[in-house]
Amino acid sequence: MDNALREKYTVVIGLEVHAQLLTQSKIYNTDSTEYGNLPNTNVSAITLGHPGTLPILNKKVVEYAIKMGLACNCNITREMIFDRKNYFYPDLPKGYQITQDRTPICVGGNVAINLKDGTERNIALNRIHIEEDAGKSIHLDQEEDTLVDYNRAGVPLIEIVTEPVLKDSYEAHAFLTEVRRLVRYLEICDGNMEEGSMRCDTNISIMPVGTTEFGPKVEVKNMNSMRNVQRAIDFEIERQIMAVESGEIIESETRDFDASTGTTSGMRTKEALNDYRYFPDPDLSPLQISKEWLQEIESSMPGLPRELSLKFINEYGLTAYDARVLTDDRETAVYFEEICLHTHNYKAASNWVMGPVKSHLNENGLSIGNFKLSAKRLSELIALIDAGKVSFSVASQHLFPELLISPDKTPLEIAEALNLIQDSDGDKLGEIIDAIVSEFPEKVKQYQRGQKGILSMFMGELMKRSKGKADPKVANELLRSRLG
Ligand code: ADP
Ligand code: MG
Repeated sequence: MDNALREKYTVVIGLEVHAQLLTQSKIYNTDSTEYGNLPNTNVSAITLGHPGTLPILNKKVVEYAIKMGLACNCNITREMIFDRKNYFYPDLPKGYQITQDRTPICVGGNVAINLKDGTERNIALNRIHIEEDAGKSIHLDQEEDTLVDYNRAGVPLIEIVTEPVLKDSYEAHAFLTEVRRLVRYLEICDGNMEEGSMRCDTNISIMPVGTTEFGPKVEVKNMNSMRNVQRAIDFEIERQIMAVESGEIIESETRDFDASTGTTSGMRTKEALNDYRYFPDPDLSPLQISKEWLQEIESSMPGLPRELSLKFINEYGLTAYDARVLTDDRETAVYFEEICLHTHNYKAASNWVMGPVKSHLNENGLSIGNFKLSAKRLSELIALIDAGKVSFSVASQHLFPELLISPDKTPLEIAEALNLIQDSDGDKLGEIIDAIVSEFPEKVKQYQRGQKGILSMFMGELMKRSKGKADPKVANELLRSRLG
């Protein structure tokens, strides 16, 4: 779309993110939450809402929701109720969903995102509340009827609701990235959008620049990746602007995203306000969070990515970029910190993790959790380089792969066995230099006439003859002084 046209409008976006909590059992009973079981096998009478059954709240669900709230600087509600949201849908066996309407467990708060220019922006949250998932309607090709699988019914969710403050698809993407990083650090959700364990409804409206009254909001559903959320937003902004420009009135509605075309299409309009007849669930007593329990949860909070990132910058002197990459996931950050217990060469530790270690993991489709080399071994490798016994290139190209094969041996043992300890013995290097100088008298003259670039040819020759074991720094100095 024409830039000038786009700049006539302010875009307003609010996200509602559902995160499936990693509890073993459902929110109100002991049915398993395991994914991929035969349809309708994780369903007891309570999940199905049979008359006379009683829900019992899963304590872990509350703990996980509070953790997310603490990570997002929310106010934690200490006394709350659970509400019934009544509506009919085949995937909703009870005829109502138990959710939190008036007393969400977390209120306010914010999530810091990284902008393109490297600065941060705090995205204000409206609330985080606890609710239960519905079942799944399944439409099979050959099947005339719609099938329903209730295994997912009653799986715990938190819904993270932002204020309408996001400005474009980039910010929305950055927000989702950060939320995913947080739930993974907290180990409360696997954050996988492709598999539906994190889902996002996107609310988008536009208004002419300079005005303050929000336009009617359009809610887009069914994007199963962050990339698709971004695509849906970009499409929707353009569609709304074009509509307004041609004199149409945007309707507040719910739209469906189609990933194959990158477009959205109308599902239902919101002109008639839904009436869910919320009322407190009479089967669940009000919940009180004790001070002691809240403190217990607070003290069990792991280091969060932004705190760790700051620590890496301030204490370890890393660049913001390095700190960001190293804190991308918790396991990497933990591994890096462990190396730093054994070395003070933090920059080298960072280079190793972001370089050879990451490449090895990527090439083999591994995560750092199943990386064979202990942090201590890696610190020994760094120490070996720092002591001038091997060069970085010998260490990364020869020692590192050998260590992966024999992680029980020390780097020094392997370096000695493979005869990789580098030669900084001036006499031996001197002999090699003598030989090279007498073999290439022309090149020596060229060098002395000022073609200093020839030095690299001499270095190459020297490294070759020392079988890569010459200490490059020592070799370089010796060569220069010999050539004059
Ligand atoms: P509803 O009750 O229809 O779900 P809410 O007021 O609870 O609406 O808001 C749902 C989401 O929509 C929130 O993330 C909020 O920030 C966002 N939102 C509200 N109004 C607008 C708007 N005019 N444009 C874009 N997003 C909006
Ligand atoms: Mg909504």
